[in-house]
Amino acid sequence: MTRIDNFADRLREQLGIPDDLRPDALDVLRRMKISKVISDYAEDPEAVGRDARWDADNRVIYLSTALWNAVLDGNDYDARFTVLHEVGHAVLGHTHRNRLTAGKRQFGRFVEADESDADQFALAFAIPLKFAALASTSGIASLADQFGLPQAQTSRRVVDLQRDLRVSRRQTTEHDIDNYTDAMRAMRINAINWNS
Ligand SMILES: [Zn+2]
Repeated sequence: MTRIDNFADRLREQLGIPDDLRPDALDVLRRMKISKVISDYAEDPEAVGRDARWDADNRVIYLSTALWNAVLDGNDYDARFTVLHEVGHAVLGHTHRNRLTAGKRQFGRFVEADESDADQFALAFAIPLKFAALASTSGIASLADQFGLPQAQTSRRVVDLQRDLRVSRRQTTEHDIDNYTDAMRAMRINAINWNS
């Protein structure tokens, strides 16, 4: 389990939604505010397109009006992923970030690393490791609907889960099953046929 997987699991626990298959994005923000993980979340009428922004100084997540309305829809998986991405910035302690849908670019190695980590957090939050076994034997499209993610992001998460399985197998061999939980998890993930 990576540090980001661990953070995602801990946030779910803290918000009281450890086992929700598909947490509503605005409800996640509401719970984060109640739990004081963020101080607030708000619509930013000035924001263009479907932009979102993490204000690290004030600990506020801002959504553009278009994004807010798309999230309210509940079935807009791209919008939901964008919100979870901002949640990642907040939980991972990043400084100011835009979602960059409006054509503005931020450059630099550290910025790129933060963006990649925020994406990774969104995936880990949406499909926690422990849900790998709950995911049915259905294909990517079905998993995307089940967990409320865009199909491309769902595919990426499945690849990560399969890699985690291979690491768990190797560790199990090298350390002679000194971590029962990891071993059990590895077996459960192994039971899934992702491609059928
Ligand atoms: Zn970002």
